[in-house]
Amino acid sequence: MNSDNLFEIAFNSASEGLLVVDKSGEIVLVNERMSYLFGYEKSEMLNQRIEMFVPRKSREKHVALRDGFIHDPHSRPMGLGAAGLKGQRKDGSVFPVEVSLNHFTQNGERYVLGLITDISEREKIESELRAAQNKLFKLNEELEMLVIQRTAELEKSQQLYEMIAKNFPDGVINVLDDKLNYIFAEGKELARFGIGSQDLIGNNYLERIQDPYRSEIGHHLNLALSGENQTCIITFNKNLYELNIVGIEGVNGLIDRLLIVENNVTKQKELELEQARALEREKELGQMKSRFVSMASHEFRTPLSAILSSASLIEKYEEKDQQPNRQKHTSRIKSSVSNLTGILNDFLSFDKLSSNLVECEISEVNVCNVLNYAIEEVSSLKKKSQEIVIEIDESKCIFNTDEKILKNILLNLLSNGLKYSKEDGEVEVNLEISEGILSIKVSDSGIGIPKSDQVRLFERFFRAENVSNIQGTGLGLNIVKKYTEILGGSISFTSVENEGTTFEVKIPEGEISI
Ligand code: ADP
Repeated sequence: MNSDNLFEIAFNSASEGLLVVDKSGEIVLVNERMSYLFGYEKSEMLNQRIEMFVPRKSREKHVALRDGFIHDPHSRPMGLGAAGLKGQRKDGSVFPVEVSLNHFTQNGERYVLGLITDISEREKIESELRAAQNKLFKLNEELEMLVIQRTAELEKSQQLYEMIAKNFPDGVINVLDDKLNYIFAEGKELARFGIGSQDLIGNNYLERIQDPYRSEIGHHLNLALSGENQTCIITFNKNLYELNIVGIEGVNGLIDRLLIVENNVTKQKELELEQARALEREKELGQMKSRFVSMASHEFRTPLSAILSSASLIEKYEEKDQQPNRQKHTSRIKSSVSNLTGILNDFLSFDKLSSNLVECEISEVNVCNVLNYAIEEVSSLKKKSQEIVIEIDESKCIFNTDEKILKNILLNLLSNGLKYSKEDGEVEVNLEISEGILSIKVSDSGIGIPKSDQVRLFERFFRAENVSNIQGTGLGLNIVKKYTEILGGSISFTSVENEGTTFEVKIPEGEISI
């Protein structure tokens, strides 16, 4: 194979279009690839002007360029710097090309060798790449915007959370790390105790907790770190705090922080306690009232039937000489009525005392007179030959106190003295005013109070074991004690079973309100 043949094979099998033009721009040689690229037969291209491959509108300009190259030839790629060099096919369609020019001289004639590459595929890829890059760029821009936006939102919400935490009323919001050191602490309660949140950051939470709560809280915090939410109540600086402890998960899904919301619940708990007490009181009151009503109706039966039987007996005593019998029954009626009045009085007092409706009205009282009235009122309760003996200093009878309450105290103690002593026994009353204290002693030599019952004597409805056959409600002494306390005084007693009892009430002088 000679070198001419070799050259021809190489020339024709090149993957680029190759052509040679003379100085006038006439095509003297083209390869197979040129036919493939431009759609002309080889014979159609030979001896034609090179401009046949140039799009119609650029042909004129190309002639000038070509002339310029022939006069100043140097190898270079064509259209460098000018984007979009185009070739035109036989069918008029246009496609992007890359042209590289070389020149040579043969037999004194100057020729130009052009190398033409169809770059449509490359341009397509490049434009796709550009589009993809643009898209990426846009996406990137959008992402950056989003990040800026999110950061701003985050900062805003962080500020909001901080504001919320700072203004968290009656409490503190804390965040601790897994070593129980403060990361965050805010709340009005901190300000109340003059603690700045910055003073706490980095410090251990448990250092702030006083004994005996430290170990207990430590235990709760550890449980919360293991995922169990905790609630507990502690006392701190004389305040009650409810602690709600919740674990916060980190990015790996493991709890690495703790959120502790401390709430000052002192007022709330006090209120709850007060409500519970009020409820308990109300319940107790309801029970007491129903118990009292059933007891009172039972206690009413005996005096009422005594009144009834005495009244019908009186009817039968028609004769003049039966006056003593009539008298016996009228005094039975009187005593039964007194008894009923006593029960009713107790009921009214009990009701008023239970509902806190008893008001103390202090005035200048003649205590001797009050005692006499009381004695008169209970006189119908006196058994045969029972006597009430008074020991009193008539010159010292004026005392500032509540008259009605005082009378009630006396009525109760006197009626008990009469009720719980024998027919011919004496009830002694001693009134004494000394150094601003009114002291009342009521003694009897009656059945007395068994030692074992004495501790419970002032309890509501309590009655000693030795009085089961004597009428009573077990309320009188409880009422007397409460009345005495309202007057700022105290009550005590001494008693020996089957020998007698002495009650002593001491009342300080009250102040008359203007
Ligand atoms: P009541 O007399 O209606 O039973 P009180 O509350 O007045 O109720 O008295 C409570 C209890 O105290 C009586 O049931 C009785 O056992 C005892 N008690 C009170 N006063 C005397 C007294 N003077 N002598 C003996 N026991 C008394």
